[in-house]
This record gives sequence, C-alpha cells and structure tokens, in this order.
Amino acid sequence: MSGRGVLVTGASRGIGRAIAAAFAAQGDRVAIHHRDSAQEAQKLHGELPGEGHAVVRADLADPAEVSGMVESAAQALGGIDVLVNNAGIFLHHPVTELSYAEWQAAWRRTLDVNLVGAANVIWCALKHMPAGGRIVNVSSRGAFRGEPDSPAYGASKAGLNALGQSLAIALAPHGIAVGTVAPGFVETDMTNEHLKAPRGDAIRAQSPFGRVARPEEIAAAAVYLASPGAEWASGAVLDLNGASYLR
Ligand code: NAD
Repeated sequence: MSGRGVLVTGASRGIGRAIAAAFAAQGDRVAIHHRDSAQEAQKLHGELPGEGHAVVRADLADPAEVSGMVESAAQALGGIDVLVNNAGIFLHHPVTELSYAEWQAAWRRTLDVNLVGAANVIWCALKHMPAGGRIVNVSSRGAFRGEPDSPAYGASKAGLNALGQSLAIALAPHGIAVGTVAPGFVETDMTNEHLKAPRGDAIRAQSPFGRVARPEEIAAAAVYLASPGAEWASGAVLDLNGASYLR
C-alpha cells in the first residue's frame, strides 16, 4: 500500500473535510470519520484522489463506538500512521442564561466529545501507530482567549492543548510527535451564524487581512505537523489567527 494511513475525525465537512482532502492530495490513504453524515462522507470518499480510502463511523462521546471505529480504520488502512483529532462541538451556553441542569448537560457533552472523545481516539489509535507516527489535535483560540458564550468549549480546548503537550513528552521515546493547531474563526458550518453581518464584519475586522480563515489554511498546518520533518514541532500549539492580536 502506498502513502500513509491517516485517520481524520469529523471529516465529512468543514475543516476535517479540507484536512482529509489535503492528505489525499499528497498520496495518503484517509479514513473519513463521521458521526451521522454517511452520505457526505461517502461523497467525499468518491471525490478524494488516490485509492485505499475508507469511511468509518462513531459518536466520539461513546467509548465503545470509538474503539470499534478506530479498529475499523486501522484494518482498512493497514495501521494508523497519522491521527488528526478534528471533530468538535460548540454549544452555546452562557453562564447567566441557563438552568443548573442545562449547564451540567452542556459541560458533560462538550467535554465528552472535545476532550475525552479525542483522548479515547488517541488511546485506541496508539495500538496501531508505528514509530514515526503523528498526532495532530485541532484546538481553538478559545483555549487562550476565552469563550464567554461557551465556557466549556474554551475549557475543553485548553484541555486539548495540555493533553497534546503531555503526550508529546510521553510519546517522544516511541518516535511519535504530537502537534496542535489553534485557529480563530474559520468559514464553516460551525461559524455560519456568527459570521453574518453585523457581528461577522466585526470578527473579520479583527484580522488586518480583513477576513477569517479558510479551512484549507488550517489543513495545510495539520499536514505540516503530521509530516516526517515535523518531529521538532512536537508539543507546539500553532496559533493560526491571521495576525489578529497584533494591533
Ligand atoms: P463543523 O461543525 O463543520 O464540523 C465538526 C465535525 O465534528 C462534524 O463533522 C461533526 O459531525 C463532528 N462531530 C461533532 N460531534 C461529534 C460527535 N459526538 N462524534 C463524532 N463526530 C462529531 O465544524 P468545523 O468548524 O469544521 O470544526 C472542526 C474543528 O475545528 C472542531 O474541533 C472545532 O472546535 C475546531 N475549530 C473550529 C473553528 C471555526 O471557526 N470553525 C475555530 C477553531 C477551532
């Protein structure tokens, strides 16, 4: 089999879709993970260049489903050389507007998917990852800039950064590097509503480029962190924000 075996979570749309396409474009074989988007995932499967791609399914909040999904991906790819933990959710739950029960539910779901889900995918994937393997986590600027509308989201992404740094140390003796990308706003379904005027105009004005990121720009960084030459970027958190905070 040619190329590397790459598992991308949440790959049916948005940033994950761009990441899957970027790896396939350089000759890798991609396991396209989705939760409930079989049609979109199959469509992407048909569009990716090259051969040996697969579609796998799991709700990342369910540890048993995660384990089965990673086994399927490893079998289809003949091992997992690269894991990209991209799937994530952003639940709107401002602290002053929710009941205690709603607050609990938002925290549980967000952490179960964004942090514990990613950690479980990593645990399962490591059984199939050889020396030279790469793990890339998709975090967010919310990890270090605050998320007033979704405090659990910010906390989950800060946790993901810390998880990546801890594993960068733990896995270096095994020849595995762990990198993190932390984008600000990216044009995807997740941000559709936020990016409408007038709020969208204010968001775009945060960057001197006068726009938000394109999914392909985040994918390019993921490809770099997963490259054979990126061992020295292990533990790095790439702050991809179009110079937003510099003025
Ligand atoms: P998106 O909503 O388009 O895609 C998210 C993906 O995660 C979808 O494929 C969805 O099916 C999957 N997913 C959600 N819950 C799941 C679950 N329980 N089990 C399995 N899969 C699940 O969003 P996106 O903008 O492409 O986001 C991708 C990643 O980038 C997320 O981790 C997000 O937090 C992060 N991010 C996005 C932005 C942005 O502005 N769009 C900024 C910073 C970070």
